[in-house]
Amino acid sequence: MTEIEKKSILTNILAQYLNHLSKHLPEDISSALLRLKEQESDDSARAFYETMFRNMELAAELDRPLCQDTGIVQFKIKCGALFPAINELADSLTDAVRIATEEAPLRPNCVLSFEEKNTGDNTGGGVPTVWWEIVPNRYDCEITAYLAGGGSSMPGRAEVLMPSAGYDAIIPFVLDRVAEYGPNACPPLLIGVGVGNSVETAAMNSKNALLRDADSKNSNPKAARIEELLEEGINKMGIGPQGLGGSSSVMGVNLVNTARHPATLAVAVSFGCWCHRRGRLHLDRNLNFESPTHPGFSK
Ligand code: SF4
Repeated sequence: MTEIEKKSILTNILAQYLNHLSKHLPEDISSALLRLKEQESDDSARAFYETMFRNMELAAELDRPLCQDTGIVQFKIKCGALFPAINELADSLTDAVRIATEEAPLRPNCVLSFEEKNTGDNTGGGVPTVWWEIVPNRYDCEITAYLAGGGSSMPGRAEVLMPSAGYDAIIPFVLDRVAEYGPNACPPLLIGVGVGNSVETAAMNSKNALLRDADSKNSNPKAARIEELLEEGINKMGIGPQGLGGSSSVMGVNLVNTARHPATLAVAVSFGCWCHRRGRLHLDRNLNFESPTHPGFSK
């Protein structure tokens, strides 16, 4: 396969995948919404869930995006160093965003800062955002794509706490942020909590937490306990779907942690809204692909 052929195939797969993501929620999010709808006792909250499911049906039926804010496209790439299209991948990501913007269509959301110019195609000035991880001795590539909306995961918060505050201090930090802007982020929410050594590592961990499945648990029992306590605490706040009250407010709380400096305890939080459009695509060395989050996706 020539380089031009590889780039064309890859771009086409990625453009179609972004198009699909804008119209179909991943299975873990649909299941979480269904569980919350079935548990909900408040009539008006149930009506909101009914509307969300009707929205999902219509998006698929009419081939239209689930929400008017199709976000900024963010990619997390875990690419084998021996993946045959590794050289073409960066250009393919950008071209795929341009094509999906036209075809899905995605709303043009990329505004060049200080110039105040919308580029019109969702690319430019560091957009799409791409986080790379190169994995030695592997031929495959895993691409996580996220359409990050302006009201949910973009306005996150991060802070470096004193370690003497203890890990329990994560709880009021997150609850305060949920009270501050959670109702505006189109609940029920997926809460991503990051713990690390500095604001940027904690912030990145909170974003990675949003990319984990809604029903997953941290493997460390103490961190998993904080996930549980936060879920209970946020549900008790009574925010409910769309912030208008209800017995549940979260689809899940995911905490991702990395090591910290002895003098710092950095914590960050990012929110995913009910319309959490992210997916994982796995490509092998021959550019065959599958998406565990969207089994219905095929070229
Ligand atoms: S928070 Fe989510 S559902 Fe609400 S407008 Fe933004 S992208 Fe759409």
